[in-house]
Amino acid sequence: MLKESLISEFQKIVGKDNVLTAPEAMKAYSYDGTTSWIHEPDVVIFPTTTDEVSRIMKLANAEKIPVTPRGGGTNVSGGSVPWHGGIVLAMTRMNKIIKVDKENLTATVEPGVVLQDLTLRLMKDGLFFPPDPQSFLGATMGGIISENAGGPACVKYGVTKQYILGIEVVLPTGEVVHLGGRTLKNVVGYDLLHIFISAEGTLGVITGAELKLNPLPLAKKTLCVVYDDVAVAGESVYHVLENGVIPDKIELIDNWVINRIEEMMPIGLPKDADACLLFEVDGIPEAVEKEAEKIAEITKKYGAKEVRVAKDADDANKYWMARRAGFAAVFGKAKTVFAEDVTVPRGNIPKLINRCKELAKKYNLEIVVLGHAGDGNLHPAILTDINNKEHYDRALKAMDAIIEGAVEFGGVLSGEHGIGLEKQKFMKKVTEPAVINMMKNIKALIDPNNIMNPGKIWE
Ligand SMILES: Cc1cc2nc3c(=O)[nH]c(=O)nc-3n(C[C@H](O)[C@H](O)[C@H](O)COP(=O)(O)OP(=O)(O)OC[C@H]3O[C@@H](n4cnc5c(N)ncnc54)[C@H](O)[C@@H]3O)c2cc1C
Repeated sequence: MLKESLISEFQKIVGKDNVLTAPEAMKAYSYDGTTSWIHEPDVVIFPTTTDEVSRIMKLANAEKIPVTPRGGGTNVSGGSVPWHGGIVLAMTRMNKIIKVDKENLTATVEPGVVLQDLTLRLMKDGLFFPPDPQSFLGATMGGIISENAGGPACVKYGVTKQYILGIEVVLPTGEVVHLGGRTLKNVVGYDLLHIFISAEGTLGVITGAELKLNPLPLAKKTLCVVYDDVAVAGESVYHVLENGVIPDKIELIDNWVINRIEEMMPIGLPKDADACLLFEVDGIPEAVEKEAEKIAEITKKYGAKEVRVAKDADDANKYWMARRAGFAAVFGKAKTVFAEDVTVPRGNIPKLINRCKELAKKYNLEIVVLGHAGDGNLHPAILTDINNKEHYDRALKAMDAIIEGAVEFGGVLSGEHGIGLEKQKFMKKVTEPAVINMMKNIKALIDPNNIMNPGKIWE
């Protein structure tokens, strides 16, 4: 519980309407996309300017009150759960797109801008921001930057850090700093910008960002390639790439997920397939046609059963809507779901898929596979029930083994969801002690009172 006098101080800074303390509001801000981690804050504050954020941080730092920045709350690693109570700093009212600079292909935004709103605004100028987390209807720029989010289009375009030229950050002391800038190239001193990108809100509050944009491609084409064996689908990823085609998206859904999606929203996915890969190619129309033909040719050569080419944009949208429904399809079918985020070098995708199959047998569990196969980033999901201890313990063992498998195959334990509350023990296990030390020293230097999102990344 925070002192009444402190609540009044916060109300003086942001106005009464921007401070919530009612019990139902504390419940509403106690969880995020994981739903399995729950802890209530003492107060939720909605700043509307950088100056307000700075004054809140000064006060919080002086009183050593934990501060958890929050955007859309869609992350799936417990990142925006206020694990030690204190303040949830809800950034959603700092939601202005300040400038779109068509000439320089950049945009200046506040952190609470929702990706979908940005996308619609940029379309008017024939531009787009390539990172496309599938939570774009709710995810905000602050959250996207703090998680270094990816998405299907990363195969060709890369992840968020490649599209952030600069940020404005309020440090735990309340000091406002600007990292990076507005240029494509920048080698002035240490690259502090990239320490804050993917810091999961543990170093400071992002209050503004300068984004790098691309012109919208002139044409796109979607293919749904059908397989009898999910591991063969995995092999197709590198066969397509090694033959010189770089699609913007290559997404995998396995038989279980296909059938659950079809139950939710029948669109005619191949229910008897062991898996399908959804490809999208984009660019100038002639190249797009040729690349689509090439993908059909290569995937058939390497074991695909059937290649379906979307007839038009509506047909293509159906496939991508189905893919987006993947998580909902999985989460709707079990009391508890572990949605992994392991990432391996692309050539090892079949090994990872086979390991998941072996573990499903060994532990007698339903382990389903979907994800960004084109990046080697899969989301094997284990269906379990937190109230069934024996089942849950088996699922935990399988989850550990999937992560160990990914590391054994040269990969990492998280490609885009971050460490948050969930992956700390693995991070310790697979990271060199000297590296952990350096990271902890950086945290202690920037946030000596450990008020920024305590409990995340580090215990
Ligand atoms: C259905 C679904 C699909 C998803 N698909 C993808 C996907 O394809 N790719 C992907 O990468 N992720 C995906 N995610 C995960 C999630 O949507 C992303 O991590 C997203 O970037 C989070 O944005 P947010 O605004 O919701 O942030 P939040 O969840 O509110 O916060 C995420 C983290 O950022 C910190 N933070 C938020 N705002 C700020 C700020 N202004 N300053 C400092 N720290 C801040 C928080 O403290 C927290 O640690 C998906 C999630 C769901 C539920």
